[in-house]
Amino acid sequence: MYKEDIYEITPNNWEWFAQDVLFHLGFSIAVGPSEGVDDGSDMIAELDGKRYLVSCKHNYKTRKNVGVREECDIQDRVVQHDCTGFITFYSVGATSGLKRKLIALKDKASIDVIEIYLDNVMDIIPSMQGYILQKYFKRPQEMGRNLLSHTDFEYKPLFCMKCKLDILKKENVPRSLVGFYEDSEKIIHLIYGCKKCVNKYCNDPYWAEIGQIRYIEQMLSWREIVDEVVSRPEVKLSEDFYKYWAFLQEAILQIQVPQGWGRWL
Ligand SMILES: [Zn+2]
Repeated sequence: MYKEDIYEITPNNWEWFAQDVLFHLGFSIAVGPSEGVDDGSDMIAELDGKRYLVSCKHNYKTRKNVGVREECDIQDRVVQHDCTGFITFYSVGATSGLKRKLIALKDKASIDVIEIYLDNVMDIIPSMQGYILQKYFKRPQEMGRNLLSHTDFEYKPLFCMKCKLDILKKENVPRSLVGFYEDSEKIIHLIYGCKKCVNKYCNDPYWAEIGQIRYIEQMLSWREIVDEVVSRPEVKLSEDFYKYWAFLQEAILQIQVPQGWGRWL
């Protein structure tokens, strides 16, 4: 349904769009499209200390799947740029020949391959913020739907409990966490914020990164952890525990990555 809109993106913008999508998925961009790797159509993205060479292909005219010939020497390029992973970011699909090659790279060369094709892009678009989408699409309001969207939906920031920085902003997501703090009276508080602000208070073994729990599967595990903590024998919870837990859940919905995308972690 957004297919036509996707093919109206210019090749140059396709790379910027790739950067925004990867950022949305929790990656940081080590080398962006403006700096250009090789012929300028590639980038380098990082996640959990792993470097990925990103190959952006936008066959908007032919709409033909990317084949082996269009994607030469993957292994050499990955090694040359000090990466251990490879991401396809295509506005089409891949031919079966290329898919076989990617499987072989995974199995035989232990290159971590992440395949993002048109269908994946169309799945992820609805979870993205309208202000990002409006850079690329004419009707972002029809695309930027997310779980909370209804007519009076308004973006609600989630502030670090210490410094009041909005930890949902894309540049802050990878630097933020949620955890528990047990005070001197053995009362447990739910705390979230920038790592540098709240890390030192997390004196319970359980904590999670905001960049992690934005994946719905991870959020479900985090909910189990919260359930476990609150049902500990003789636990004493702070009065605002459930208030902050509700704030957190409501806020994370705004940046939640849909089901199935958890495999990128
Ligand atoms: Zn902070």
